[in-house]
Amino acid sequence: MTTTALQAEKTTGAKLIDGKAVALKMRATQRARVEALQAKGITPGLAVVLVGDDPASAIYVSRKVKACEAVGIKSVSYRHPTTITNEELLVLIGKLNADPNIHGILVQLPLPAHIDMAKVLETIAPEKDVDGFHLYNVGALVVGRQIFPPCTPYGVMHLLEYSDIPVEGRNVVVVGASNIVGKPMALMLMARDATVAICHAKTRDLGQWTILADILVVAAGVPNLIVPQMVKTDAVVIDVGINRLPDGRIVGDVDFEGVRKKASYITPVPGGVGPMTIAMLLENTIQSAERQASGEPA
Ligand code: NAP
Repeated sequence: MTTTALQAEKTTGAKLIDGKAVALKMRATQRARVEALQAKGITPGLAVVLVGDDPASAIYVSRKVKACEAVGIKSVSYRHPTTITNEELLVLIGKLNADPNIHGILVQLPLPAHIDMAKVLETIAPEKDVDGFHLYNVGALVVGRQIFPPCTPYGVMHLLEYSDIPVEGRNVVVVGASNIVGKPMALMLMARDATVAICHAKTRDLGQWTILADILVVAAGVPNLIVPQMVKTDAVVIDVGINRLPDGRIVGDVDFEGVRKKASYITPVPGGVGPMTIAMLLENTIQSAERQASGEPA
């Protein structure tokens, strides 16, 4: 490479991984798979359960419903006030478990404090657990099987693959250890032979870990947690965080403008991992309907 070309590359900074574009591209294939199912008399059905009036949850649910429509999945929404009891919610899930037209059940989290979230998630039939939060699906992930991979880390894996970023043998640091993002993310990366470290709020000197990462995945929910001096030159940086600032702006957990000058690849927020979470929900729902059509167990 000539000196001029090298300089041009340096000033350009990291390549953007455009999750919105990847998710849109996936839709054509997903629509074709839905049409193939419809030709056999099966329309994939997703039940979306929303409890309470959390505005962010309402936005996420309406995006999921819209995305379903775009590929031909029939979504049915169940919206309940916070006054719904644990028992009433479990009865609803029982009905959805038994409904042959429903292939996926999604209960939007977080749930109000009086609801036993663990019990709700365990009541969802594992073969309809398209969010991948049931213990059966979590256990499968631990032993290297992916029945319904949780949508956000599944979306990250897809973005890495789509961008031809190798995972095997690379040092990956995951910042955030939640059950829905950080832990399944680490398991999926381990299944692809990465060397994985997980950091959390009690990790001492976060930067001494993140600087080792060839691939850095950040899912902490803390704006500007990751600044350039914590990032290795040419690292791949995946920002899962979604934070609303007091001025209304949505940002991730990474100082995007600073880190993009140092990284080789970076995901923007919004428009990076977020659209992929929805794309993978569609993927899991279609997969569930395909399994039912073929008589294959989960
Ligand atoms: P969560 O349940 O609150 O977990 C946050 C994790 O980050 C915890 O493990 C916590 O550590 C760790 N953490 C918090 N502060 C930290 C710090 N200063 N240094 C290092 N680790 C820290 O959140 P979540 O549900 O996993 O979500 C994480 C972020 O991703 C949020 O911004 C959320 O909105 C976003 N999100 C985005 C998508 C998407 O589609 N893009 C999907 C889901 C979530 P402890 O375990 O020690 O408390």
